Amino acid sequence: MELRWDPIMRQWIIVSGARGKRPLLPKGYCPFCPGSEEVPKGDWTVISLPNKFPSLSPNPPLPSKSDRLYRTCPARGICEVIIYTPKHDATLADLNVENIKAVIDLWTERFIDLGRLDYIKYVFIFENKGRIIGVTLDHPHGQIYAFPFIPTIIRRELKSSKRYWKRTGRCLFCRIIEKEKEDGRRVICENDGFICFLPFFAHWPYGVHIYPKRHVTALPDLNEEEKMMLASLLKKVLRKFDNLFNMSFPYMMVLHQRPTDGREYPHYHFHIEFYPPYREKGKVKYFASVEMGAGTVTFDYTPEMKAKELRESPES
Ligand code: ZN
Ligand code: ZN
Ligand code: FE
Repeated sequence: MELRWDPIMRQWIIVSGARGKRPLLPKGYCPFCPGSEEVPKGDWTVISLPNKFPSLSPNPPLPSKSDRLYRTCPARGICEVIIYTPKHDATLADLNVENIKAVIDLWTERFIDLGRLDYIKYVFIFENKGRIIGVTLDHPHGQIYAFPFIPTIIRRELKSSKRYWKRTGRCLFCRIIEKEKEDGRRVICENDGFICFLPFFAHWPYGVHIYPKRHVTALPDLNEEEKMMLASLLKKVLRKFDNLFNMSFPYMMVLHQRPTDGREYPHYHFHIEFYPPYREKGKVKYFASVEMGAGTVTFDYTPEMKAKELRESPES
């Protein structure tokens, strides 16, 4: 386990030789169900656990030899699992708003605790949902990777928002929210605290973003009422997903928050992004050569069309 620097793309790669050997679970056994040794005894609603097959570790092995071109670094960090509920067959969308709020509270707590560690520069909270994404455990859960560096996509967002902030004195994301509200065609749903839309420049057919309307850079900046509003909106969005094709909708969901490297990022704006791998019912959206090899997204519809589908999909 080590970090290797890609000098061409200028980013760290996490190399973990042992993780590929993680065992396939016996059929019918779930390590996240009550009664398993991995979860606490007694009642719980939502819990975090260390990831049993982490790709980052607080005490990583010494990396292989580093030179000026081929740099390596210890894979120091923390990988956790967040189990959303004891119910094996539920999904985040099935939880009631109070329980989703409890998930958000735990995200917030883990962001603070992990972010406080001196070697953690970025706390990345996410969920991979569905077999099609490659999830091996059906029990509803998300994950956290606490990185010793700021990941590439976050760096890019920080750079563009800082540039906009310097040039105009305004938040790039706040401006995008204004633009989306003005236009309205890509807005999926909103409440007093949060708004969900498919951006003008969406990358995935159903790749919605959720933003707090107030300019905050991370979860700990939200008050209790706002966290309830986030829970409520999140549930509506997830319901719309499930109702769209009448299935438990697979997705990748990521939280984009400020880094935890001790610097100030007043120009950043917390948000949640989804990358669902469908483009129509029964049709998978592949990120293929043009996306992966040229870094150019092809959107085979218009975001206005796809937003309309989601807006009209029932939210309960
Ligand atoms: Zn289970
Ligand atoms: Zn903002
Ligand atoms: Fe983002």
